[in-house]
Amino acid sequence: MKRTKIIDLIRRTDYGAKVVVKGWVRTKRGSKAVCFIALNDGSTIKNVQVVADIADFDEELLKQITTGACLSVTGTLVESPGAGQSSEVHATQIELLGTCDADYPMQKKGQSFEFMRKNAHMRLRTNTFGAVMRIRHQMAYAIHTYFHEHGYCYFHTPIITASDCEGAGEMFQVTTKNLYDLKKGDDGKILYDDDFFGKQTSLTVSGQLEGELGATALGAIYTFGPTFRAENSNTPRHLAEFWMIEPEMAFIDLEELQDVEEDFIKYCVRWALDHCQDDLEFLNKMIDKSLLERLQGVCTTEFVRLDYTEGISILQDAVNKGHKFEFPVSWGMDLASEHERYLVEEHFKKPVIMSGYPKEIKAFYMKQNADGKTVQGTDVLFPQIGEIIGGSVREENYAKLMSRIEELHIPMKDMWWYLDTRRFGSCPHGGFGLGFERLMLFVTGMQNIRDVIPFPRTPGQAEF
Ligand code: ATP
Ligand code: MN
Repeated sequence: MKRTKIIDLIRRTDYGAKVVVKGWVRTKRGSKAVCFIALNDGSTIKNVQVVADIADFDEELLKQITTGACLSVTGTLVESPGAGQSSEVHATQIELLGTCDADYPMQKKGQSFEFMRKNAHMRLRTNTFGAVMRIRHQMAYAIHTYFHEHGYCYFHTPIITASDCEGAGEMFQVTTKNLYDLKKGDDGKILYDDDFFGKQTSLTVSGQLEGELGATALGAIYTFGPTFRAENSNTPRHLAEFWMIEPEMAFIDLEELQDVEEDFIKYCVRWALDHCQDDLEFLNKMIDKSLLERLQGVCTTEFVRLDYTEGISILQDAVNKGHKFEFPVSWGMDLASEHERYLVEEHFKKPVIMSGYPKEIKAFYMKQNADGKTVQGTDVLFPQIGEIIGGSVREENYAKLMSRIEELHIPMKDMWWYLDTRRFGSCPHGGFGLGFERLMLFVTGMQNIRDVIPFPRTPGQAEF
């Protein structure tokens, strides 16, 4: 007989029907006469209660039904007299698919997140990680749906690349060379002509530059793929391997770009509220009591549009009134997370879209403003998270772009193809990057980015 998934089973009311459920034991309790087994199959946060009359089953079998064991249960669907569930399964037959050794790490409730990270292979079986992973799936689906419905083309940019988009280093090298016997030139520098690609290559830190090629041909594209940064930052908001969504649009100005950023995030958060109710209610109860309220809030409030220069004066005002920041505030500085969070959480109490940054703290490709000092970068700052989106209108003028590249001494010999977009039918365009796990942090209320991806990669950590 075909099994019923628990998510479908709990909606059924055809009491008396014969059913088969399969899943893992969450808890077992009982009296002399009956045994109650809470079974979960991952299709929902909810368990189904299996009721077994002890007299009907072999004692040895019942003994082996411990937390973590995997069962196939055949029985009758019965309306439940107990609170918290509408139906239960009265077992007629129990097959033990897999017993669970006594050292099963997820046995106890309320283990620390630190402990669960060390057991990331098993933490997926817990309520919290089940909820987070189902929401993660829904968010990925929401993102594809949003862009598909708005006429964007899903565009695949390479993971192995010879260009460093941010010009900032922090890249993982890709090589097949023998690292113990490297070919070097007379000056001692490594030669790459004998390497797989005949040049130095790395894992991508962003698909943007190739994304711009897509947008200036197809009109609007988005990428959604793995991204790698060897930043040794060890914060609760940085991973060495994360997933980034990068839409890029032709014929867009700063205001329209900000409109897309806002509309897109709201759509994703709305989607979570509409499609992940049970999991969000669980997280709201167990992880963060203000989660649902915060998600509702984001969907219904208008984001603040704030000029960088104005943001700096708000922060300076705060300092003058006695607010203590770890890092000093002055025009020209890059905002630290504490500054971003002050603006969002204390001053405006709303998400903020900031723009008009000093060119010195932003990437070479951002469109320069007429003042010669600022660029059309536009970051979205969120409560709890800080920066969730980094974006900009791109500099489409060849001469201006080149002069910035020269000022910054960016090696562009491998980037001729990027510059060609500004020579052959250049057009105004822009886009942004959203860190998928930053969005996940916001939507789940989880505190550490290591806990919203199945198998996190961080400095010193590549287990599983
Ligand atoms: P931050 O200042 O937080 O390190 P960034 O300025 O380096 O961010 P961008 O280069 O603009 O970020 O990347 C775009 C987006 O990718 C960011 O807004 C963020 O959501 C996400 N992101 C960047 N670095 C990481 C990382 N190491 N782990 C997870 N997400 C990241
Ligand atoms: Mn960074």
